[in-house]
Amino acid sequence: SDHKLEYPLSPAHMDWSPHYPAFVDNDSSQINLAGARKLTKDVEVVDIGCGFGGLLIGLAPLLPETLMVGMEIRISVLEFVTSRIQALRAQQHRLKAAAASQNSEAALAEVKKAAEEANVGGQQADEAGTMSSIIPGNYENVAGIRSNTMKFLPNFFGHHQLSKIFICFPDPHFKARKHKMRIISESLNAEYAYVLRPGGLLYTITDVEEYHHWVLRHFQYGTDQDGEAERKAGGIKDLWERVPDEELEADPCVRVMKFETEESKKVTRNKGNKYVAVFRRKADPEWA
Ligand code: SAM
Repeated sequence: SDHKLEYPLSPAHMDWSPHYPAFVDNDSSQINLAGARKLTKDVEVVDIGCGFGGLLIGLAPLLPETLMVGMEIRISVLEFVTSRIQALRAQQHRLKAAAASQNSEAALAEVKKAAEEANVGGQQADEAGTMSSIIPGNYENVAGIRSNTMKFLPNFFGHHQLSKIFICFPDPHFKARKHKMRIISESLNAEYAYVLRPGGLLYTITDVEEYHHWVLRHFQYGTDQDGEAERKAGGIKDLWERVPDEELEADPCVRVMKFETEESKKVTRNKGNKYVAVFRRKADPEWA
């Protein structure tokens, strides 16, 4: 339960250094409020309820210079994500070393070994015996941490820190009395708006049509009277605009979200539908 969850007092107290060793600032005088070594850049992409980490692994080479974190509440699942990322990092380092040695036999042996090792949770390395399995960023830019994002998101991230938030196949909590457990709600959306910078994107995908409509309702106005009344009152929804489908087609992150998370693969296998909605964080309105 929550009392066992570790979380920083504030974002300035968060020690990210064990999670992104390749990004720790060389200047050892750069320490944060908790005395931890600072990174050379901030974490700016978050996968909420990351599950087994497929999204992070898929995004890692697409945004090699961007620090991304998956947050997951289940201990065993988070442990799996962490060891998966460690294995992929180790594999990349060995591949690069073998490639640098210009010994093609040694390089081939390393690729095979790496392919075996990286077969963590169905992650198949490229076994073609070529260097094509070397990816930019070495997976050093992704990490997983255990957290209950419904409670502790603002402890980890400051105002306007994030450029992207992903919420992929959130637990549906079908029954009406369980709706308060949903990870998309009026109050949580206000937190997402707080940590996301203007122009930043919040990505959602679900296979549950009813949940998709719930998402749309909670980020935008309906055309109904209620929506109108709320708008006049200056609601949180003033902060979001939906990104049109044409724009999403050109966004490689949407492809990863649709096809590379573990849940998306399950939905593909079961020939289910996938409903995508992405919202752009608008500039702060005058009332804010
Ligand atoms: N996003 C992954 C995917 O697409 O494969 C996993 C989807 S799974 C249906 C939902 C995940 O959210 C589960 O792994 C669950 O443990 C996690 N989760 C639920 N509530 C959470 C919370 N409050 N904080 C962090 N993770 C949470």
